[in-house]
Amino acid sequence: KPDLIGKAMIALGLSPQPPVVHAMDNVDLTIHKGEVVGLVGESGCGKSTLGRVVAGIIPPSEGDVIRHADANTTRSQKQADLAIQMIFQNPMAALNPRMRIEDIITEAPKTHGMLEGSSAEHADKYLRMAGFDPEMKFRFPHEFSGGQRQRVNIARALAVRPEFLVCDESVAALDVSIQAQVINLFMDLREQLGLTYLFVSHDLGVVEHISDRVVIMYLGRIVEDAPTEEIFNRPNHPYTQALLSEIPRIELTKRKFKVIDGELPSPIAPPPGCHFHPRCPFAMEKCRTHVPQKREIAPGHFSACHLNDDTNSNLAPANEAEL
Ligand code: SF4
Repeated sequence: KPDLIGKAMIALGLSPQPPVVHAMDNVDLTIHKGEVVGLVGESGCGKSTLGRVVAGIIPPSEGDVIRHADANTTRSQKQADLAIQMIFQNPMAALNPRMRIEDIITEAPKTHGMLEGSSAEHADKYLRMAGFDPEMKFRFPHEFSGGQRQRVNIARALAVRPEFLVCDESVAALDVSIQAQVINLFMDLREQLGLTYLFVSHDLGVVEHISDRVVIMYLGRIVEDAPTEEIFNRPNHPYTQALLSEIPRIELTKRKFKVIDGELPSPIAPPPGCHFHPRCPFAMEKCRTHVPQKREIAPGHFSACHLNDDTNSNLAPANEAEL
């Protein structure tokens, strides 16, 4: 049967092999302890894949994720792995509907010998930390609203004493007022526990509020990386400028940003050279053939665009991605 299907696909002019998608292309990202890094881009740009790779949920097909553990802790390897926790977009899907909240929160600490006191004491401590009444530990997930379920997820993540939280669209499914509460909780926890965050979002308004630094991804590549204030006041990359033009902010409406034309190209066959060139109003001939290199255009502000090239001598061939 597989042969027949393969022959039929060839007869139809289709490849019998499944297409290879490079969700990330030579991504190089350093996140410092205590930093909040916002990771932004359109759906399908690879930001959620990068978040999952950082969290250790999926391994990179090439390259490494290097974690510098705190030298003062005496964690086991498994406990060190738990130091990076992920908070997902859909809180209900991440909670076992058959388990009481106490069991959900204490399941991993029990398994890895991290329980602080009794199971109830452990659950109480982390429910309080997530802004919950400890009495809620006797209930089941279906008894809570979306915002409350997300707090349960946060309590569960905190219960293994993480140092780093990867938040993948963690507030996207919540009402705006609940979003603000959860974001404030993240910021309070940062103060209390010294947490580091990778905040994956398509919402630049939320990212501006929460992040120290913003990283912009386009079709698997990081195209701009800068302190938040720099990104929002002096965006360099045409893609970042186009993204910013979509935020409904009074002060931005006076600026002349370019609107993104066209759809996000397929990651199966991304455009050569600069992936953004089919949609970029500034595209030049070399943009179609050469990958732009990342350059530091201001202290801590990196951008990958040929508009920043001083000379053509630094051009990299289109098949040698620089970011
Ligand atoms: Fe536009 Fe060229 Fe810059 Fe890409 S490298 S963003 S196509 S100007």
